[in-house]
Amino acid sequence: MRQSKLFTKTRREAPKDEVAKNAQLLIRAGYIHKEMAGVYSYLPLGLRVLKKIENVIREEMNAIGGQETALATLHPSENWKKTGGWDGVDVLFKIQSRTEKEYALGQSEEEIVTPIAQEYASSYKDLPVAIYQIGQKYRDELRAKSGIMRGREFGMKDMYSFHETQEDFDRFYEIAKKAYFKVFARCGLTAKVTEASGGAFSEKLSYEFMVLTDAGEDDIIYCSECAHCANVGVSKAAEGDMCPKCGKGKLAKARAAEVGNVFDLGVKYPKAFDFTYKDKNGEAKSPIVGCYGIGTTRLMGTIVEVLSDEKGIVWPKVVAPFSAHLIAISGSNTDVGAEADRLYELLCENGIEVLYDDRDLRAGEKFADADLIGIPVRVVISEKTISEGGFEVSSRTNGETAMVPDSDIVERLRN
Ligand code: ATP
Ligand code: MG
Repeated sequence: MRQSKLFTKTRREAPKDEVAKNAQLLIRAGYIHKEMAGVYSYLPLGLRVLKKIENVIREEMNAIGGQETALATLHPSENWKKTGGWDGVDVLFKIQSRTEKEYALGQSEEEIVTPIAQEYASSYKDLPVAIYQIGQKYRDELRAKSGIMRGREFGMKDMYSFHETQEDFDRFYEIAKKAYFKVFARCGLTAKVTEASGGAFSEKLSYEFMVLTDAGEDDIIYCSECAHCANVGVSKAAEGDMCPKCGKGKLAKARAAEVGNVFDLGVKYPKAFDFTYKDKNGEAKSPIVGCYGIGTTRLMGTIVEVLSDEKGIVWPKVVAPFSAHLIAISGSNTDVGAEADRLYELLCENGIEVLYDDRDLRAGEKFADADLIGIPVRVVISEKTISEGGFEVSSRTNGETAMVPDSDIVERLRN
């Protein structure tokens, strides 16, 4: 993509009412546009990142047998009345039609997915099954001051699994937890997992995946030595205590963002919809249901919070909007422009996603924009690099710079 043609431009200031670092940087760099508190549009750069995050999640959910769907987000009120969510879920957006019918906007999809599963899973032979989607959610959140980390409209991957027995559910629960750790690691983050009660959903166990950041809204306590981690308020242990699990480490307190969670929903939803399957003996049984969420937009915001520096965003390679940022420093030298055009074509032909800064701007402005946008690898072409027969390649993460000869550049950027 030629930057001169890119729909967005960087800007010096974020909107005055934007207090979250993630949204400030993403707005300034042209990734997102703020519509109102808690609602953002995703612009070309932002959508590229979001799609890459979604793809990481998609790959990991497919790998554990998840089947992708696109479930309705405009819901019949009847389904929510059946489960008690119509009056019981405080964040549910309710819509009144001109025909006096009422609808809900999807804040989660149990009310839609359970009746669908009921139609297709009538026998134990149809179980287990796990279906998921990646899409918009709507919640009437009271406070929305964390940028894209807490939206009133936001992106979520939500998966739902249906099982014959508790044992089979437990088996899949462990597999799903492992897949979650893979997702967060691939996105450049270290996640800790807390055990919590299922809250509004059930008395059963749930796990929350937390990434340490001051931009989060949760307080956790974790062990310096082992993987023990708990929510402050749930845990009886306090900061400075010895770890109740390993007995070796000390507990530290930190702010964290909940990037995902998994719930054992038990039979609550099948019961509400009168959903049973026939077991091996022909007896009607309620399936055990699990739900598994990852906030895709919250994850994107968390990556920005955790990995950015004073100059701007630092994307990990897998989710960066482009893998290389090609910057031509031509001044009045037309050879540089021609050489940069040639390299740009070459990289495109080789399937390397490149943002090409072909704009007529001073070097300092181009570098400042590149730092703000945060593409992990920068390739500079100038009179100097041409005279040396190569390109200057540098890393946004650690600033390391190397001259790469013309003959090696494609291979270098591939890896
Ligand atoms: P929180 O306690 O932060 O409100 P939650 O417990 O309500 O989260 P779930 O209903 O389990 O969250 O949703 C699954 C995931 O969706 C969460 O782990 C989080 O990553 C994300 N999420 C939840 N609410 C929002 C929101 N308002 N904006 C962005 N992401 C959200
Ligand atoms: Mg919530």
